[in-house]
Amino acid sequence: MPDFERDLEDADDATIEAAVAQALLPPLLAALAADLDDMELVPDRLLPDLSVPMDPSGTGGLSDAQVREARELAAEAVRRLRSRHADAGTAGTDTGTGAAAEAGGPGGPKPVPVERLRELLAFLSGGGDVDGYLELLREELNLGEDLRTPSWSLAELAPDRPFRVAVIGAGMSGLVAAHRLRQAGLDVVVLEKNDDVGGTWYENTYPGCRVDVSNHFYSYSFAQRTDWPDYFSPQGVLLDYFRTFADDHGLREAIRFSTEVTSLVLDEATMRWELTVQGPEGTVETLDADAVVSAVGQLNRPNMPDLPGIDGFDGPWFHSARWRHDVGLKGKRVIVIGTGASAAQFIPEVAKEAGHLTVFQRTPAWFLPTPDYHDAVKPEVQWLFRNVPGYANWYRYFIFWQNVEGVRAAAIVDPDWDGGETSVSAINDGARQILTAYIHMQFADMPELLPDVVPQYPPFAKRFIRDNGAWAEALRRDDVDLVTTGIAGVTPAGVATVDGEVHEADVIIYGTGFTASDFLMPMKVVGRDGVELHERWKGDARAMLGITLPRFPNLFLLYGPNTNIVVNGSITYFSECEVHYLLGCLRELLASGARALEPTDAAHDAYNERVDAQNLQMAWGASKVNSWYKNATGRSAQNWPFSLLEYWQQTRSPDLSQYDLL
Ligand code: NAP
Repeated sequence: MPDFERDLEDADDATIEAAVAQALLPPLLAALAADLDDMELVPDRLLPDLSVPMDPSGTGGLSDAQVREARELAAEAVRRLRSRHADAGTAGTDTGTGAAAEAGGPGGPKPVPVERLRELLAFLSGGGDVDGYLELLREELNLGEDLRTPSWSLAELAPDRPFRVAVIGAGMSGLVAAHRLRQAGLDVVVLEKNDDVGGTWYENTYPGCRVDVSNHFYSYSFAQRTDWPDYFSPQGVLLDYFRTFADDHGLREAIRFSTEVTSLVLDEATMRWELTVQGPEGTVETLDADAVVSAVGQLNRPNMPDLPGIDGFDGPWFHSARWRHDVGLKGKRVIVIGTGASAAQFIPEVAKEAGHLTVFQRTPAWFLPTPDYHDAVKPEVQWLFRNVPGYANWYRYFIFWQNVEGVRAAAIVDPDWDGGETSVSAINDGARQILTAYIHMQFADMPELLPDVVPQYPPFAKRFIRDNGAWAEALRRDDVDLVTTGIAGVTPAGVATVDGEVHEADVIIYGTGFTASDFLMPMKVVGRDGVELHERWKGDARAMLGITLPRFPNLFLLYGPNTNIVVNGSITYFSECEVHYLLGCLRELLASGARALEPTDAAHDAYNERVDAQNLQMAWGASKVNSWYKNATGRSAQNWPFSLLEYWQQTRSPDLSQYDLL
């Protein structure tokens, strides 16, 4: 009988075989090949086929015969691993310490020589050329060494120069910034408006909230967990991860909680920033800093629709990111406005509670079939993550490769393609057909809804929504109605539509998203020559690599303009790249002895022109559909249109020809 409580040395063959039967085989073979130093475990005849974008089959594109052979090879290799452990008399091969285990700890995966790594990465990439990616992938894999640790310190570069960095926000980006800055020996203060860390994972507590990027990828490269309970963890698990990260790295001592930054003003005489902050109980004080890192996020200021009568509703109403847990929904008539990523998660949960639910949809979403979206990681797979050194790391890499770079091509506009409003290229149209078939299958018993639920815009123009069938299941209920008639306004009794009907409700929930284009709002930010950032941007935020800005020396933005990704990448990846770049800027600053640094107008403008041109060549830039991917000017100020590799390359180190040292 398989027993997944046992460690490797005590496991019987049945346990090994049952575990391997549930594995994602290509990364398991790579992990075993690396650990056993046996390249026969990754033969060409078992190369994964990555031609199906975001393939949900779980086989890595292997045929049935390949799967059988791969399983036999893997099981035999795990048995060898077991014998090795028995011989060595070691007590287990735990690949991590559980929560937020850091790769490279005792029993963690071993570093792999570069040549071997190249071969293994080529295998996992379906035989492609990975040379350009090698260094990036080494960092992402994090096989036993955190290659992103700063290579310098203040003590080496400028031991006599006090240097204080204020980080605004203790969410996912702010925490990694604070950690790296402290590793470099800088004096860091983090100002967080909430009373705990976690940012979006602290604020969004709506029912059904969970990450829509696989957790093994949505986590810091240098603080990977081998024991995520779910493939896509719920909010509480993510919040715990960031809390544990802050605790494990001693970051709380640097954080001032319940403290909101209201303004940043540059003192041009000293090139230092003066921050006005409002602390607990409303106390206002000023702090100064040599550099400021804004890590305030893009998606946290609720977007309340400008609907007539919105304040006049008689019952309780709230936004999804400010969920009123004190408002019971049981048996109530509930209206939800919006069907984006948040609403698609909480609507199925609200439907179970409410007496009646009316969903107002303006634009239907494309759903990404994800059968395991709500599933716990199977005990078999947990066992492998725990017992095969590096499997979790290689698994992370495989998700990265398969889901991210592999699908970008389907978002690129083919100028010769005539797909009208619904597709931008032949492969984009292929994706449209597959995704349309999925919706037809989900709504097979509700054909009357099909005209309302099949999008009429290209896939990739808006964020995909992961789905395991929960959406259609909610709409299938007798006590749930979908309304697509335009909203005229809110009345004391409910929501009035443009056809004159009033849909009555006891509670209205707004799943209407965030004011994502209002970067750094509502802070006042005054840089050189008295230039105020929002006046300069005029609603059209731009920055160099999303990070630095002319006239705002030593101000660094994380998750700033054009650093969002559509193709299901992970924002943690971008944050790590941004933090690496900002540390590179500070290194140059400290080594040069200059007081401050800022990009030149020419470099900033040329960069933005290039980004804008490419965004127009992407489905989200070319399509006219509504989305938070565009600001009021119609420009995509959110999205990064190039590959993840390119962002990594450009953020390796600042090109000093693009900067003025002041
Ligand atoms: P969103 O995707 O912007 O969705 C907002 C919804 O409200 C859309 O359906 C929108 O319709 C509708 N809406 C807005 N104003 C309206 C109005 N005046 N009248 C009627 N409908 C209106 O916002 P979100 O769902 O909060 O998600 C935002 C982003 O946050 C996501 O794309 C994702 O990147 C992130 N997110 C991630 C997760 C996760 O990882 N699990 C979960 C939630 C959010 P239109 O489509 O017509 O504009």
